[in-house]
Amino acid sequence: VQQLESSVVAKVRVIVRVRPFLPRESNSIDGKPISCVSVLNSECQSSDDVTVHLKDHETSRNECYKLDAFFGQEDNNISQIFSKEISPLIPGILEGRNVTVFAYGATGSGKTYTMQGSENLPGLMPLAMSSILSKIPGKSTITISYYEIYMDRCYDLLELKEKEILILDGKDGQIHLKGLAQVAISSTSEFQEAFSCAVQRRKVAHTGVNDVSSRSHAVLTIYVSTPSCDDTGNVITGKLNLIDLAGNEDNRRTCNTGIRLQESAKINQSLFALSNVIYALNNNQPRIPYRESKLTRVLQDSLGGTSRALMIACLNPGEYQESLHTVSLAARSRHI
Ligand code: ADP
Ligand code: MG
Repeated sequence: VQQLESSVVAKVRVIVRVRPFLPRESNSIDGKPISCVSVLNSECQSSDDVTVHLKDHETSRNECYKLDAFFGQEDNNISQIFSKEISPLIPGILEGRNVTVFAYGATGSGKTYTMQGSENLPGLMPLAMSSILSKIPGKSTITISYYEIYMDRCYDLLELKEKEILILDGKDGQIHLKGLAQVAISSTSEFQEAFSCAVQRRKVAHTGVNDVSSRSHAVLTIYVSTPSCDDTGNVITGKLNLIDLAGNEDNRRTCNTGIRLQESAKINQSLFALSNVIYALNNNQPRIPYRESKLTRVLQDSLGGTSRALMIACLNPGEYQESLHTVSLAARSRHI
């Protein structure tokens, strides 16, 4: 039994990042509010489960969930998250493995901050790019693509002209995104240029709706291709998907109507589909329900098999209900 247990590896790690309170969230009389999130057994963070404790300070209601790691409200722990959680995945990508990293959580919980970062504090997307650039052998080539999924449709963010991308099944079990631009990258400055244009484009609503950015999933993919060592002429390609998911919403709490309600329904549907896929993978179920949303369709060749994934549940320390919603769904997808 022991042998069996040790051979079972969580295929999707689920970790928590709590953002700090923002200056505008502090009260001038009492100062900083008390966080609704804490960790119970932080001393054994690296190898064992951590228990995340959520408490509503108004009603004293509270719940505990077991997850894989916890990153608290320290001002800037992004480099710590990178070195502990992402760095170990990079050698696999260079060897042809597919890896996916998700930021998951409500709007305002720190997903974009975690994945994209700001100019002064780069997030996981630019950090991963720099790390891959510094590690690849000279004969390897890197390309990137960047697109968003809005209302179950894919749009290229690297193309100037708005373009919808179609999802097709390739012969080799790989997913093919028809018409998606792939841009070659050979330096961090080349990446920065392409990346900041795409980030700008994400902000400009192609729909006339404000702030599409929090209502779409943004997928940055870094492809690494290396000619194999033998003389077969084969090329090994691994890819890293870095995904800033749309904010999950509790429709019982938000009073969405019209287009907002439709968006919200699509978002929740796709996040639920994602959680179902991860749950099925982590529990070795025979059938993985990839086809239930565009999000899980595009990730079909990057979740399962020899792929690895990491879900970062982002939390706002001042929002109990919201955090509970995020953590309970994240915990549900985890290997149990
Ligand atoms: P989301 O993408 O989940 O909607 P954002 O990433 O836009 O949330 O974050 C919401 C706000 O919180 C932004 O003003 C952002 O700068 C700030 N923020 C998020 N995470 C952190 C953090 N770890 N440290 C400092 N500020 C943060
Ligand atoms: Mg965001």
